[in-house]
Amino acid sequence: MYTFYQMWGVTQPEEARRIIESQRREAVMENPANLEEQAICLVGRDVYATLIKGYTEKQWGRACTELPASIIKRLPVRFTFDNNYFNDRYQGIPVGGYNVLIKGLLDGIEWRTGCNYLDDRAYFDGLADEIVYTGPIDEYFGWSLGFLEYRSLRFEQEMLPVSNYQGNAIVNYTERTVPYTRIVEHKHFEPGNGAVLSLPYTVVTREYPADYTPGSEAYYPVDNKRNRDLHAAYQDMGRCNVPHTWFAGRLGSYKYVDMGQAISSALKLSKALL
Ligand SMILES: Cc1cc2nc3c(=O)[nH]c(=O)nc-3n(C[C@H](O)[C@H](O)[C@H](O)COP(=O)(O)OP(=O)(O)OC[C@H]3O[C@@H](n4cnc5c(N)ncnc54)[C@H](O)[C@@H]3O)c2cc1C
Repeated sequence: MYTFYQMWGVTQPEEARRIIESQRREAVMENPANLEEQAICLVGRDVYATLIKGYTEKQWGRACTELPASIIKRLPVRFTFDNNYFNDRYQGIPVGGYNVLIKGLLDGIEWRTGCNYLDDRAYFDGLADEIVYTGPIDEYFGWSLGFLEYRSLRFEQEMLPVSNYQGNAIVNYTERTVPYTRIVEHKHFEPGNGAVLSLPYTVVTREYPADYTPGSEAYYPVDNKRNRDLHAAYQDMGRCNVPHTWFAGRLGSYKYVDMGQAISSALKLSKALL
């Protein structure tokens, strides 16, 4: 509703709903030919132009008219004065951040970081009966069936001599002309921590969409038929050739998941294995 107020000056949910509905009706098409047409059918011209067009074109590195309609099936719209991105009842970040949580979980457990499983499979396989592999599944198989596609990101970090740069953990930039998609200001992830908030400096990270080249950091799976089929073929290869290796997590399952889903599927898999 804050957005609709800024766009159209409306304060009542019903007014906003009516504007969106009338723009959707104007745009109704039998078979939207591309992402632009599909998005306008779903949310109307104004929301599309303000929030979706520039952002999507930056993320994908292509014009919305060149992207398939199938990328977006629905665009959820909320008619409440609530600026949260997610609709979940419980939202948050572990106190002190994820590092503290992970450190606690690993207390008393042997662990190593900074080693690549793929560099010495025989050695790591010798340590356990079951292996959970959370890297890219195509890389595991030496890309033997082909490359899975991803979108990547480049992060630019800066320390600024101000206490509070943007007043929020994340601000998204939907315009095409701004080269980054969002700025993260890390201190706001812990709103109750007055000591951090009052420091005279702050750390911000700008996120720039980037092409992915195999072997570099993979972020977002490109969800289309070619990639889904290729991933299924790699999974079959895994079941046949390495039955004690489990391909898990967002890269093993080649699916974008939020933290809650990532944790939930990790718990399910570990229960099944144990
Ligand atoms: C830019 C971005 C922003 C996000 N924002 C949010 C958000 O706001 N809210 C939210 O809920 N979720 C968010 N997510 C999603 C969330 O980060 C993921 O769902 C979660 O991290 C997935 O956990 P995972 O264990 O499956 O994979 P990962 O976190 O990727 O963990 C996989 C691990 O495997 C290791 N690994 C890979 N290959 C090898 C190898 N060969 N040898 C040894 N180790 C290896 C990697 O180093 C990594 O540590 C975001 C994701 C991205 C990319």
